[in-house]
Amino acid sequence: MEITIGKTKLILKKGDITEEDVDVIVNAANSTLMGGGGVDGAIHQKGGPAILQECKKIRQTSYPEGLPTGEAVITTGGNLKARYVIHTVGPICHGKFGETEEKLLYNAYYNSLKLAKEKGLKTISFPSISTGAYRCPPYQSAKIAIKAVIDFVGKEDYFEQIRFILYTDQMYHTFKDALEEATE
Ligand code: ADP
Repeated sequence: MEITIGKTKLILKKGDITEEDVDVIVNAANSTLMGGGGVDGAIHQKGGPAILQECKKIRQTSYPEGLPTGEAVITTGGNLKARYVIHTVGPICHGKFGETEEKLLYNAYYNSLKLAKEKGLKTISFPSISTGAYRCPPYQSAKIAIKAVIDFVGKEDYFEQIRFILYTDQMYHTFKDALEEATE
């Protein structure tokens, strides 16, 4: 599914984010920045050691206690097709999705977009942050993801493409429903 908001194409696609040929992909990292399971593991595995090396440097120099939830940092894309990886940390929900979790998830998307723009990157792909191991509810999370993107584009019509790469059919349809609801 694809819609255009101003000059920005907003694309929903089922797929594997590590295959994306864009300027930057976003990693649903954890605050250690040392890699993990799920999409984080897949990105480090395919991108190679250069990504982890930069993450370690960022930890040491800027975030010795870990990257706070909702913040974003950027590294090389290593061996990926994507030139860069933005690492952001979504909230840990375990099924609970109150105002705090909502705001932190919003920040993870919004701050990733801000950072990509600061770096002059024009095409960006997101996974569905926090809906795997962190167990935030898919539909509510999708609504927040879409809201963050629409808010950003409403302020700054800068990106060429903002893509959501959803790993399962179910998550694809969840995002599609959320996007349709947000734009009808
Ligand atoms: P979190 O800890 O933020 O919940 P996970 O990696 O566990 O992160 O899950 C986030 C989402 O990423 C889930 O919806 C999961 O299905 C999805 N996912 C896992 N691997 C990939 C991949 N290679 N490409 C895109 N999405 C992926």
